[in-house]
Amino acid sequence: MHPATGSARLYLRLVSYAYPHRLIFLWSLLGMVALGATEWVLPAFLRYLVDHEFGSDRSLHFLFIPLVMMTLLALRGALGYVSSVGVASVAQHVMMDLRAQMFRNLLALPTRFFDQRAAGELLSRFAFDVAQVAQAATHCVTVVVKDTVLMLALIAYMLYMNWRLALFLLVMGPPIALLIARVSARLRASSRRLQNTMGEVTIVAEEAIGGHRDVKVFGGEQYEAARFQRAINNARKLQMKVIGTAAATDPVLQVIIALSLGLMMAFALREAAAGALSRGEFVSFVAATAMLLAPVRRMTSVNEYIQRGLAAAESIFALIDEAPEASGSGVLPAQVRGEICFEGVTLAYDERIVLEDINLTIRAGESVALVGPSGGGKTSLVNLVPRFYVPQTGRILIDGHTLDDLNLTSLRAAIAYVGQHVVLFNDTVQNNIAYGALREHSGQQIEAAADAAFVSEFVRSLPEGFDTLIGDDGLRLSGGQRQRLAIARALLKDAPILILDEATSALDAQSERRIQQALGVLRQGRTCLIVAHRLSTIEACDRIVVIEQGRIVEEGTHAALLERGGAYARLHSLQRERGDLALAEGVA
Ligand code: ADP
Ligand code: MG
Repeated sequence: MHPATGSARLYLRLVSYAYPHRLIFLWSLLGMVALGATEWVLPAFLRYLVDHEFGSDRSLHFLFIPLVMMTLLALRGALGYVSSVGVASVAQHVMMDLRAQMFRNLLALPTRFFDQRAAGELLSRFAFDVAQVAQAATHCVTVVVKDTVLMLALIAYMLYMNWRLALFLLVMGPPIALLIARVSARLRASSRRLQNTMGEVTIVAEEAIGGHRDVKVFGGEQYEAARFQRAINNARKLQMKVIGTAAATDPVLQVIIALSLGLMMAFALREAAAGALSRGEFVSFVAATAMLLAPVRRMTSVNEYIQRGLAAAESIFALIDEAPEASGSGVLPAQVRGEICFEGVTLAYDERIVLEDINLTIRAGESVALVGPSGGGKTSLVNLVPRFYVPQTGRILIDGHTLDDLNLTSLRAAIAYVGQHVVLFNDTVQNNIAYGALREHSGQQIEAAADAAFVSEFVRSLPEGFDTLIGDDGLRLSGGQRQRLAIARALLKDAPILILDEATSALDAQSERRIQQALGVLRQGRTCLIVAHRLSTIEACDRIVVIEQGRIVEEGTHAALLERGGAYARLHSLQRERGDLALAEGVA
């Protein structure tokens, strides 16, 4: 795409976000125009005072001047207020709409998208890029509208007073504007680099805060302190550069300004000598020229703001346009039986194959355990059922419906899931169990699920029972308690398909046994896919499937597999040696 048309399209798209707020926008534009169009009144008033009142003994009421000045500035203040608040209101609305749209789409993105990106990068789009766009747009609109009108009005007034002098200024103006642009661009370039070093400071601090336990245990204090020192030292050096450049820039700008003002004054004095300029006009010209400098300076930075804003807008729209998960239109019947069928399924994460030619049929109501060495592909296999990932080849069917044809909401409504990494929300125990679509369940149902997952027993000891806030990601709970909460959530969902991925790994042998008993009851009438680490917990499953390096190497009942003396028997005797089984059985 041609860069210009690309920018134009981005620009139009941004404008479309402001369109619903066009009325407020129009009002603030009017305010800006009025503000810009009245700036010349101040030098005009000065001219009047010098030419008509200065040194005259006419008894002008001494309150007249302060009153006029006050009224003028109060009026302009009101206009300024209307236009700033109006523009800000539009900008804030646009920011809100952009963020809402980004977030909506974020929720619909496939798991792969999140695998490929750091959370911090996405967060910065929400915070930084959106603010950047709003700031750039506000700045540009203000400058382009207000400053243009202001400069035109001032120049027109100067032309009216003395066109030769005004023309002289117009000829001198562009090269001076160019000089100012050059000098200030250098300043901005170094301040942009500063932003990056501040990013480094935050990253180091964030890591130290998040990993404070590991820092303590592994003695990372020195290392972290040194890393932080380097980051803040870099930030300080750059900041000094920015301040140094700014401090040097200002005098240079002053010299340029002095030169231009001086030239203008010399020319003006010649005009005055020729009788073409009154004292008041002289003063007025000097004031008007000085008043032109600020808008000229702002004008020279507009392009840079536009570029920065467009770059930020590009990254925002990239997130909004990111394709959501493909969802079919098929809907599962109200009564899902829960037969799951893998047919020649191969899965690869970025080129690396992790599941190869998986053929497996799980009958409705059957409990199947997946075992095998870690990294073998168990999690990858069960993640295919809620369609977190789409296999490269082969297909998966539920009750004969291909997953690709199913509506994702309908598919996922049929599945309860406890993942390997339990995720809890910073909310109450109750709301963590009755999360999302489960909100509608009654208090009794929630308590029943909590009882079955042995959540109730530890909730009773919490200060506010089910209404206790559990902290960011359940920070205030133990690993086992977290897992029990997640299990309660899955039980409450009461779905025909239940997936437990090492869902009891953090429990002590006793609690695990008890939960297994509870699950034993629950397994009836639903299809279960259970990934378990401790083999003792899956002996009662209808079938055990052993997965090694992405392939099914064995399947059968516990007894049959032991008999066979293959991979499962080896795993079993390994755990017996380590005492895992003995421990679990001893407690039971
Ligand atoms: P298991 O659950 O049996 O321990 P996994 O299914 O989690 O095994 O992992 C199988 C393989 O796939 C491992 O080698 C792991 O490194 C890789 N893997 C798992 N998840 C991802 C992912 N999101 N992106 C890339 N590779 C992954
Ligand atoms: Mg796993």
